[in-house]
Amino acid sequence: MKRIVVALGGNLILEAGHTATFEEQVNDIELRSRGIAYLVMQGHQVVVVHGNGPQVGASLIQNEEAAAVVPAMPLHNCVAQTQGQLGTMLQLSLTNALRAVQIDRPVVTLVTHTIVSQDDPALTAPTKAIGPYYAEQRARRLMREHRFHLKKVGNRGWRRLVPSPDPKKILEGAAIERLLEGGAVVIAAGGGGVPLMEVAGTYKGIDAVIEKDLAAQQLAHQIDADLLLHLTDVQGVALDFGKPQQRWLDRVTAPELRHYQQEGHFGPESMGPKVESAVRFVSHGQPNRRAVIGSLSDVPRLLAGHAGTWVVPL
Ligand code: ADP
Ligand code: MG
Repeated sequence: MKRIVVALGGNLILEAGHTATFEEQVNDIELRSRGIAYLVMQGHQVVVVHGNGPQVGASLIQNEEAAAVVPAMPLHNCVAQTQGQLGTMLQLSLTNALRAVQIDRPVVTLVTHTIVSQDDPALTAPTKAIGPYYAEQRARRLMREHRFHLKKVGNRGWRRLVPSPDPKKILEGAAIERLLEGGAVVIAAGGGGVPLMEVAGTYKGIDAVIEKDLAAQQLAHQIDADLLLHLTDVQGVALDFGKPQQRWLDRVTAPELRHYQQEGHFGPESMGPKVESAVRFVSHGQPNRRAVIGSLSDVPRLLAGHAGTWVVPL
């Protein structure tokens, strides 16, 4: 029995070309949670950390468009909303999959908060584009009236930028361990967790987005997991990705992977955070830790070590 933290892509939850109706999202989640159900059926302790990019974008639109009727909620509260929204979908789909094979384990979604450092340099340099594209006039009004940061992105218009600080601590880490020890499958730190900052001894929500891959690493480290599994839409980590000389990695040490990262092989907002997370996780000094990056549709082969990119300490 292993303790496994699974990071599940947010875009994966939404099939390309789908308009994200409730039924479509439930359907897509059902397909995508099969691999997770497999891990539970193998008897492992499992925590699922899901992304929420498309969903939090939708929530921001709903809040802004309806602001004249119902007050708009801040971004960090929208993140909490998506944890519940996606949590219930994942939770029901896993519960049904386990019931079908007579496995009686509770599945629990936890509203989870992630603490960031007050002096994280990212806080003064917003880089992460979120939500819809705006026309210039609307963008200027949002900057003036709400003090949002917006930037013109290509030809499609303006987008809001928020900081993406490093996760320092998952507030509910100890509670998650207790749930795992009690036999539960836990869905936690969705969307990277609700970002918090400690100000004069009090935690306060801040408008930022925490990269879910890094939040998953922080949680896996805190609960001393054996395996950190990044499930995405590619078979693993490649060097020279998308070029004719592209080469998939099957097994790589953390120092080697760090080296490739410094050579610029990984998209800074896509594969980059997964690589960073994998390197961090196996570099804390526990020799048995492993991180795997691979395809969601390949979980049994991934777990058996026959697929994906395996990251080992040395
Ligand atoms: P997720 O929603 O799972 O976090 P991302 O889009 O953030 O998905 O990251 C996965 C994507 O990373 C892949 O679809 C691929 O296009 C991209 N990518 C960038 N660099 C690489 C690389 N070196 N090897 C593999 N995939 C890469
Ligand atoms: Mg991503």
